[in-house]
Amino acid sequence: MSFKDLQLNKPILRAIAEAGYDNPTLVQEKTIPSVLNKKDCIVSAQTGTGKTAAFALPILQLLFNKQDASKKGKKIKALVVSPTRELAIQIAKNFETYSTYTNLRNTVVFGGTSIEPQKDILKKGVDILITTPGRLLDLHKQDIINLDYVETLVLDEADLMLDMGFIDDVKKIERLCPEEKQILLFSATIPYKVEQLANTILKSPERIEVAPNSSTSKNVNQLLYYVPKRNKIELCLHLLRNTIKGNIIIFRRTKFGVSKLEETLIKNGYKVDSIHGDKSQNLRQEALNKFKKGDVNILIATDVAARGIDINNLDAVVNFDLPNVPETYVHRIGRTARAGKSGIAYSFCSADEKAYVKTIQQLIQLQIDSIEDHPYPLDPKAKKQVHKTPGKSKYKKGRKSEASKKKKKRWY
Ligand code: AMP
Repeated sequence: MSFKDLQLNKPILRAIAEAGYDNPTLVQEKTIPSVLNKKDCIVSAQTGTGKTAAFALPILQLLFNKQDASKKGKKIKALVVSPTRELAIQIAKNFETYSTYTNLRNTVVFGGTSIEPQKDILKKGVDILITTPGRLLDLHKQDIINLDYVETLVLDEADLMLDMGFIDDVKKIERLCPEEKQILLFSATIPYKVEQLANTILKSPERIEVAPNSSTSKNVNQLLYYVPKRNKIELCLHLLRNTIKGNIIIFRRTKFGVSKLEETLIKNGYKVDSIHGDKSQNLRQEALNKFKKGDVNILIATDVAARGIDINNLDAVVNFDLPNVPETYVHRIGRTARAGKSGIAYSFCSADEKAYVKTIQQLIQLQIDSIEDHPYPLDPKAKKQVHKTPGKSKYKKGRKSEASKKKKKRWY
């Protein structure tokens, strides 16, 4: 199938041809006609499948068809809500590329940066707004944003949005838009809570699914290292010195873990940067740019910070901590071995992570090769460390003060 078969018009076809896209990806083939038909959709697709264009192209087409020429007094007709700033920026870049030969304008707003410049742009008027939930609600409260004209609402990475606790914000945003609108929900996985949200706000949606989340590319060589928790850093250094080469992403579960590993690798002379939830937007963007330009070849990240970001074509992925959600494993290692290339995924498993290996292997229907010949083997009898007997904590439940709960920091 070609883009022409999808009934896209010339200005859009020209822009995608210049972007170097020859043919639509599977998710685009399946989604674009439904969006053009003004249907609500639930699309289960991961980053890297071309899902952004799957909603951006038909939205541009719909808006282009009924475009009122005046640049003044533009109203927000399409609203895209993304859980993270990086993803929002990336979506906006895509809209920018695809709308080159149209008069349609888009902008992106997100928290963590000054609100004033964003207000100025919004006051000039845009057709498409890409945003994170918090900043959108802020701007709406200040009467800078009018959602009365929204025709299409996109909820991108809905599962992550809910994991990050945005459920009430998402529902509020949906209610701020007109009743009669199209909703497109994109999610890497469709857990029960996403399903529930879809049931409450979508109307007879089309369901589109690409590549079951359990599939791992045959080109990824998956290796498992059983290692005591305290030796993971040594094992990582050992592998970096002797085995792992090229562009590497190392995943850790927490931002604290990311910072600690980054410090150690820098001390050992490696070119490293990192992304996690505690870094300012500018610092995260800088880290990504440095990695993409090749100024550093190792990026350490939490899943949440890396989610949705277009960092692919990696030579290796290191699962320094194993994820407790098996789909996350598939998602992480899918960043290597793209476009026919091969890649390696190294996973470090300590005694308390053995259960995760089990669920991952069940999901991918594969026994991951365990490498026994390395300097820090885990005693096979090592058991999960139990720190305290449950119920015997000397602290009372709910001991945190209200003030400290409010100040609760993000862990990702
Ligand atoms: P996404 O899944 O939206 O993050 O897209 C992943 C990457 O695929 C991005 O770098 C897009 O620019 C690229 N892409 C999207 N659609 C196509 C296509 N039809 N042909 C080639 N590349 C594409």
